[in-house]
Amino acid sequence: MMQLFMPLNFLGFVYREIRAALVNIEQMFGLLATKPKVEDQQNAASLQLDDSTSENNKIEFIDLRFGYQPDREILKGLNFTIESKQTVAIVGGSGAGKSTVARLLLRFYDPTEGKILIGGQNIKDVTQGSLRQAIGIVPQDTVLFNDSIFENIRYGNPDADDSEVQNAINLAHLDEFISQLPNGSDTLVGERGLKLSGGEKQRVAIARALLKRPPIMIFDEATSSLDSHSEAAILEAIEEISGHYTSLVIAHRLSTIVNADVILVLEDGQLVESGSHQELLDKQGMYASLWQRQNQGSSKEKNQRN
Ligand code: ADP
Ligand code: MG
Repeated sequence: MMQLFMPLNFLGFVYREIRAALVNIEQMFGLLATKPKVEDQQNAASLQLDDSTSENNKIEFIDLRFGYQPDREILKGLNFTIESKQTVAIVGGSGAGKSTVARLLLRFYDPTEGKILIGGQNIKDVTQGSLRQAIGIVPQDTVLFNDSIFENIRYGNPDADDSEVQNAINLAHLDEFISQLPNGSDTLVGERGLKLSGGEKQRVAIARALLKRPPIMIFDEATSSLDSHSEAAILEAIEEISGHYTSLVIAHRLSTIVNADVILVLEDGQLVESGSHQELLDKQGMYASLWQRQNQGSSKEKNQRN
């Protein structure tokens, strides 16, 4: 009996490990085109985060420079701090370097100059495993596996029990959507199952990330335009989460980051403005004109529809 039991137990372990690895692969595909060459230092320690002293969990980008190729610098000296439990948004045009900032925070690449500290620890000196364990990612593109929507969400943390998965579903505002599916949370999704819209997939990604309960969250918003119902649901989910996590939100739609504590405007690898939404509007600079352009766009759309 024991002989039969042990291998089954072991298989369960292997299965969970494979599922955890798949989630990592997804995270890499979401943010990466090429395989990284970053290695742990020989005596790398685990990243230490202490929730009781919020001061200690801040993220600091210090004189950060980076290029994918030596002859083309993408980030040209970034300095900013995300205080513990703050939400910092990065906005800017396509190709400005927003996703690159997220990739460096995850240490998919090392900077050519400068450093990133989390809770005072240089992320180059800690294990990549402990770093990525501490960060939840909502990527631009979410991979769905051929499994039920419920199990797809559990991929975020294979050890989570059903009630934890359900809780993440509620927080990500997926409950109403799921209740309307033919088989509820047992409905198959992925290649051979129900196709989800961009907004629904993004909420699956939010639920997965929440299930991991990481102290740090990165949102890389989808560029594809979401319908207003999806956008409102995602917005509500992000709003509820913010304050509980230290968040970096990369925004293409400015409407999603109006309430961020600090908004950074990135242009050609440099920070050109920073402040709250209102402060930046008052400055009448780059952010104000981006805001005006996006709002004009949406009012034009409305006029056309009417
Ligand atoms: P954003 O997210 O602001 O649209 P990215 O950070 O993705 O911009 O990219 C910034 C610049 O870096 C772009 O010019 C892009 O072409 C380039 N880039 C992105 N990924 C790679 C890569 N893996 N190799 C080489 N260049 C890259
Ligand atoms: Mg991007």
